Parts: sequence; C-alpha cells; structure tokens
Amino acid sequence: MDTMQLRNHPRINLGIFPTPVQRLDRISAILKTNVYIKRDDLTGLGLGGNKVRKLEYLLAEAKAQGAELVFTTGGAQSNHAMLTAAAAGKIGMRPILILKKRGVTERLGNQLLESLMGTEVIFADTDDYEDIYEEMDRIGHQLGVPYYKIPCGGSNALGCLGYVDCAKEIQSLPEHFDYLVCAVGSGGTMAGLALGAKMYLPTTQVYGMMVDTDPFDRIVPGLMREAAELLHAEIDISAEDIHLRDVCGAGYAVPSAEGNEAISLMAKEEGLFLDPVYTGKAFAGLLQMAREGVFRESDHVLFVHTGGAGGLFAVL
Ligand SMILES: *Cc1c(COP(=O)(O)O)cnc(C)c1O
Repeated sequence: MDTMQLRNHPRINLGIFPTPVQRLDRISAILKTNVYIKRDDLTGLGLGGNKVRKLEYLLAEAKAQGAELVFTTGGAQSNHAMLTAAAAGKIGMRPILILKKRGVTERLGNQLLESLMGTEVIFADTDDYEDIYEEMDRIGHQLGVPYYKIPCGGSNALGCLGYVDCAKEIQSLPEHFDYLVCAVGSGGTMAGLALGAKMYLPTTQVYGMMVDTDPFDRIVPGLMREAAELLHAEIDISAEDIHLRDVCGAGYAVPSAEGNEAISLMAKEEGLFLDPVYTGKAFAGLLQMAREGVFRESDHVLFVHTGGAGGLFAVL
C-alpha cells in the first residue's frame, strides 16, 4: 500500500508535520521498558493537538464544496472546537461553534482562546448531538451561505485519514514500535492509527484508552472500515486489530486520581504537560499496563500525545 490513495484526498496545510518523536528516558527507567512520545501536541496550530491532522482533510473538503461557513460542536472546553475555529479563521472561513453547556463555560481554557479569536460560540442546552446538528442546519439556512458541518471530534472517515498519515510517519522512524497508545474520546484518532498500522505497521499493537463511555468496540472498527473504503483499500478489519481499555473513571472530563498521578509524573520526570481530560488518563492507562507486566524490557512503546493544553487551564 503506498500513499497514492491518501494523496487523492485533498488536504490543506495547517500545521507542521511530521511531528517529533522523543524517548522518555526517565520514565523508561522507572517503567523498565522503552517509552517514546509522539509530539502531536506540537502540530503547529493554536496550542497544537490531534485535531489539526483531521482538519487538514475536513476543511479541504469544505473548501472544495465552496463552503464559507464551518460549524462544529463538542463540550464547552472542546479542544476540537477551538482548533476548528483557529483553522477556519486561518483559511478565511467563518466558524460557528455550537457547544454543549456541560463543563467549564467561563472565560477560561479553550473558552478564553475562542474569545481571543473572536469566535462565535453558542451554548446548547442539550445532551444530544443530533439536536445540535439540526440547529446547524437551521442557522445555516437562515444565514443563506454555503456551510459545512464537522461532527464532534472531527471523527468521521475523512477525519481519520489524518491519523493514517500519522501511522505512515511512525513507519518512517528508525525504531520499531511494539505498541502505540492513544486516548479515545470520539474514536477517530485511534481508528486512523489502527487502520494505518494495518497498512504500514503490521506487527504493532494499537491500544486505545477510553476517556468516555460510548461503545468504542463498535465505533472504532466502524470508522476503520469507512476510512478503508475512502482509500479504496481492501483491508479486513476485525476485533483483534484494536485493544481498548477503560480509563474514564467517574466520567468524561471528570479528573481521575490515576490521571492526575500520570500528569504529575510526566511533568516532574520529563518536563512535559498532559491534560486531565484525555492525555493524563491515557498515560495512566499506559502506566497501568506497565504495572501489569505487559511490556518487556526490550519493547518499544509509543505514546501519542494528542494535545489538550487549553483544557489544562480549565479544570473542574
Ligand atoms: C479530541 C482529543 C482526543 C481524542 O481523540 P478522538 O479522535 O476524539 O478519539 C485526545 N486528546 C485530546 C487532547 C483531544 O482533544
């Protein structure tokens, strides 16, 4: 499988790729294995993060369709929504965010960044994204301009292609990785990585750490199949292609003791910052696997740092 099929999908340049990979020497010594970090917190737009890769495909499609207005949604502190606003502004499109009221809605964290960008933010008093997608259509029609809707987390098949690209970047490294570990919030990052691993890293196991309670055992393979179809790649997707672990704790965006411990360890030993909603809990899952003796001393484990810096400043 070469990248020709990937290249057939238009992609706009929003960030800086490939992102760096570093060995975490002190944490590797503590865990008695080889832990590396893929710095997707340094994707080069806003404060960085995984959504930049997805937006390169999604906004290319929006442009190609002639859209002038971009809608997306998420929680009040959605990193995805903030990055969508940043990316849309940068390419001259008007973003409107319709966010769920849950979480920190004050001028903190991602809300602060959105106010700096002058982003139009509407809070919807609903727990159902379907209501929000209907509201987007209503507002879009009312404004009478061509618009494009990006789903929560940018997690559709097209968005996943950004993480197929990431797997290709990982293939080009000198190290061979036995494990890839990432957070799972809406599933697109893991689906792209797991599909990309089937294409480029066939002996690498992909572990997703679930920070929400959706049925990811169905969602992730479903996204993988749809993304494979977009690439016209004949790839059989089965349950063995993905490994999911629950690190959600009391709920989505509710900090956990394990997540906070992981954030402190990474900050103290490596001088890097994880966030309480996604990457802290995901790295806690990696620490738990190490404690269970899953990793051998000779193994190479790559943690994908998916960003979330904005959320670090708006903790419950
Ligand atoms: C959105 C997000 C994730 C989860 O990615 P999904 O593709 O939605 O599963 C992980 N980390 C951060 C910082 C995020 O913003």
